[in-house]
Amino acid sequence: MEELIQAKGNSYYLPGITKIGVVKTAEDKVVLIDSGLDDDDGARALRAITERGWSLQAVFNTHSHADHIGGNAYLQKETGCPIYVPDLECDFVNHPILETSFFYGGFPPMGLRRQVFLAEESRALPLTKDVLPEGWEILPFPGHWFNMAGFRTADDVVYLADLVLSEQAMARRSKIPYLVDAGAYLETLETARHMQAALFVPGHADVTADISELVQKNMDKIYEIRDCLLEILKQPLSVDQILQKVFRKYGLLMDLAQYVLIGSTIRSYLAWLEAEGKIRYISRDNLLLWVRTKQ
Ligand SMILES: [Zn+2]
Repeated sequence: MEELIQAKGNSYYLPGITKIGVVKTAEDKVVLIDSGLDDDDGARALRAITERGWSLQAVFNTHSHADHIGGNAYLQKETGCPIYVPDLECDFVNHPILETSFFYGGFPPMGLRRQVFLAEESRALPLTKDVLPEGWEILPFPGHWFNMAGFRTADDVVYLADLVLSEQAMARRSKIPYLVDAGAYLETLETARHMQAALFVPGHADVTADISELVQKNMDKIYEIRDCLLEILKQPLSVDQILQKVFRKYGLLMDLAQYVLIGSTIRSYLAWLEAEGKIRYISRDNLLLWVRTKQ
């Protein structure tokens, strides 16, 4: 039987690279929170449900990143279930090419038109309070992505999506964790630091009853990258030169995937620092350069 771990009461999750929430809403009915990376994850989730005699009522996506919506198309084809996604994220789920194009900053090269960057299209509907199962709450978590949301179930279990990464992931894999709006992300984390729940289920970290310490570590990581950029930008540099220095400092290897994910993140940091008045851009010899403002 497909492994399914009970968080509390009717709230379960499927372990994996991205956890999939499985929540019972009636004796034989369940909804999913996210759908994993691909068809295989979708099939795994559906097996875990049908093997227990349950049926799938709906999928709720926390946000539109491909590792959270990759099983949508399979699940919808197999069951016809509706898929609910917060605000702007809903448009990305309906048209995943928009997301890949956003990361790249133009029409994406072939190397990005693959699974981890480009999920299969599914038909999504906007997430509103009236489609929520009874006793659930939507928790807006902007910053990592535009309108990412978490969910608090009737069991007081909070599914956190990508609000926090584990310390190990930040040390080994995601040395520059993805974000789209650093200012909004810090505000979200500041609020989340005081959040209480019976249990927290992060997408990419261990389940825990207390997330305050991990939230602080994720905030510290943002401040660390900010300070690194302010140090680098004592001299005027182009985005590519900034990336080269960041990659050297963090021991990263430049390839198309890293260029796109870390490049997008660093450009978002630059926008944040500019809005904060800490850096500005200048044009020199037809190069757009970023540099610290005089404090
Ligand atoms: Zn994400």
